[in-house]
Amino acid sequence: MRLEDIKIIGVVGGGTMGNGIVHVCAQSGYEVILVDTNREILDRAMKTITANLDRMVKKEKITEQKKNETLARIKTSADFGDLKSAQVVIEAIYENLDVKVDIFKRLDNLCHPDTILASNTSSLPITQLAGCTKRADRVIGMHFMNPVPMMQLIELIRGIATSDEIFNLIRELSIKLGKTPVEVNDYPGFIANRILMPMINEACFTLMEGVASAQDIDTVMKLGMNHPMGPLTLADFIGLDVCLAIMQVLYTGFSDSKYRPCPLLWKMVQAGYLGRKTGRGFFVYEK
Ligand code: NAD
Repeated sequence: MRLEDIKIIGVVGGGTMGNGIVHVCAQSGYEVILVDTNREILDRAMKTITANLDRMVKKEKITEQKKNETLARIKTSADFGDLKSAQVVIEAIYENLDVKVDIFKRLDNLCHPDTILASNTSSLPITQLAGCTKRADRVIGMHFMNPVPMMQLIELIRGIATSDEIFNLIRELSIKLGKTPVEVNDYPGFIANRILMPMINEACFTLMEGVASAQDIDTVMKLGMNHPMGPLTLADFIGLDVCLAIMQVLYTGFSDSKYRPCPLLWKMVQAGYLGRKTGRGFFVYEK
């Protein structure tokens, strides 16, 4: 398959990441089929995409005509069967290995043998998702960053069996989508979360041990390291449950105690202090 052969991109899951991926693919000229579980979720995804495109028109980044053309390229469906015609399918459902394995098996049975299957997973093994299909060479990780239309980076994760042909093709596709790809071999946390999450976890230990206040820990990283956001503020933004889940993937994936999740992170999650989304994490937020 060559880049010109890719005309239709399927996206499974229209949540935070899925609707961003649909937006970027359609804006880059691809026909897109978005599949999610029901009409209500699909309508919500289209509303979000339309609002984000409207904002771009307002900022004069795109024209009204470009917005309308982009929207016209998107079809939504609650029927998996509609993904049959896609040359590339990108899975962006929530982070659960068993559910993703099930989706990859279904996609493998449904799609043309040449279709490339990609996952937007933040931390789960691409090699394992590939291993439950009969096309492991055509399975790859496409780890977009949130918010997808704004963020430049994409991590492209090679499973143990991903072929050079597919890797190079998806690299070309990523560039066409306006992203800067980096090549990553399939190890827990890839690059981004392997480096980011232990830093956030260490900030939790620093707080738990009473070394400094949450505010001061964040101030050191902002003013001392020029980070745009302190690690505890960033953790609240990502969601403390998500941070904990990724630390557990690193801890079990490497069988290495250096990745053990901080007990304070556990305690915050058990209390339901998940960050911005619940109004309280390391900091308190107005609803
Ligand atoms: P989300 O919860 O916002 O959206 C998940 C969507 O998947 C929902 O709309 C849900 O209805 C749909 N879904 C669930 N099961 C389905 C099924 N069987 N068939 C079709 N649709 C189904 O999740 P999200 O934050 O968009 O995360 C999606 C993926 O992207 C995860 O693997 C996550 O790790 C990864 N990711 C997330 C971020 C982030 O910042 N949120 C960043 C990078 C990668």
